Order: sequence, then structure tokens, then C-alpha cells
Amino acid sequence: MSRAVLSLGSNLGDPLAQLRSAVQAFSPYLLTVSPVFRTPPWGGVEQAEYLNAVIVVADDEATPEEWLARAQASEAAAGRTREVRWGPRTLDVDVITVDELISDDPRLTLPHPHAHERAFVLVPWWSVEPEASVPGKGRVLELMQALPPQELAAVTLLPGLELRP
Ligand code: ATP
Ligand code: CA
Ligand code: CA
Repeated sequence: MSRAVLSLGSNLGDPLAQLRSAVQAFSPYLLTVSPVFRTPPWGGVEQAEYLNAVIVVADDEATPEEWLARAQASEAAAGRTREVRWGPRTLDVDVITVDELISDDPRLTLPHPHAHERAFVLVPWWSVEPEASVPGKGRVLELMQALPPQELAAVTLLPGLELRP
């Protein structure tokens, strides 16, 4: 059994529809789907706010590379476009963790190298798995508490939005 935590984000086109399309793409593997959160952009490029969510998926035999390939296929299916690094995009699906694996391979770094410092990953994840940990980094709750409070406060729950088909 391989279990992965994936982060979904979008701030271009129809973000809610694109998050739903990512969830749809992972429907055979879905364990948990977080609520949708509105979050400020990360990385210094001036751009619109994002919608973010986290999903937990499992498969009997998926390798980490297969989770990444499925993530990239779901981005392509949503017509991913992006010109600038950390700039606006129709859909970004990152592999946050696969089981307890740790790897510094630049093609698939595990856990995701910025997950532990991104409120837009930690808050949605914590909302569905309050006991979760980032392998090698610590508990999600403690990582959240280490962030500036205004970064946590800026991640806003959007109630009533269902991503599951
Ligand atoms: P960031 O990685 O900081 O969130 P980004 O999502 O905008 O930035 P992308 O352009 O989507 O970056 O991905 C760049 C490369 O990152 C991909 O080609 C992929 O091979 C690599 N990568 C390494 N580790 C991961 C991971 N854990 N999840 C997704 N992509 C990864
Ligand atoms: Ca990303
Ligand atoms: Ca990415």
C-alpha cells in the first residue's frame, strides 16, 4: 500500500472547477478531501489569490514516481499554463508526502521541500489529519505554530464548497 498527500492549487481560469477536475482525476484513489481554502500567493510574484486544498490518496502498488506522473497528468488535463516560476497557474498538484519516504531527488523531492513552511499546505492538511507529520520535519500542528500568525490567519476556509464529484 502506498499512501500520498497531495496539495492542489489554482489561481487562473476557473480555480474551483480545476480543483474539482484534479479530485476527479484521483477519484480511484481518494481517501480524504479537505475543504477549500482561499490563500495569498506565495513566492513574491504579484498575482491573484489561490484556492488550495489537500487530498490523501492510496493505491496498492503506486510508486512515488507514479503519484508524480498522475499529478502532472491531472495538471495537463486542466490545461495547465504558467509563464513565471511561482507565478499564476491553472492547476498545480504537488506531492507533499509518500508514506514516510525521504528523498532529495530533484525530480521528486520527498517530502516536498517547502511543505513544512507553507501555511496553504499545512492548514488544509491539518484540517483533515490533525495528527499528521511531515517526515523529518515534525508534526503538522507544530509546523503551523512555528509560522508567523498572520500567515496562518490569511488561509481562509471557504465553507460549503465540495470538491468531490
Ligand atoms: P514548488 O515546487 O516550489 O511548489 P512549482 O510547483 O511551481 O514550485 P513546478 O514547476 O510545478 O514547481 O515543478 C517543478 C519540478 O518540481 C517538476 O518538474 C517536478 O519534477 C519537481 N518536483 C520535485 N519534487 C516534487 C514534489 N514533491 N512534487 C511535485 N513536483 C516535484
Ligand atoms: Ca507548487
Ligand atoms: Ca508543482
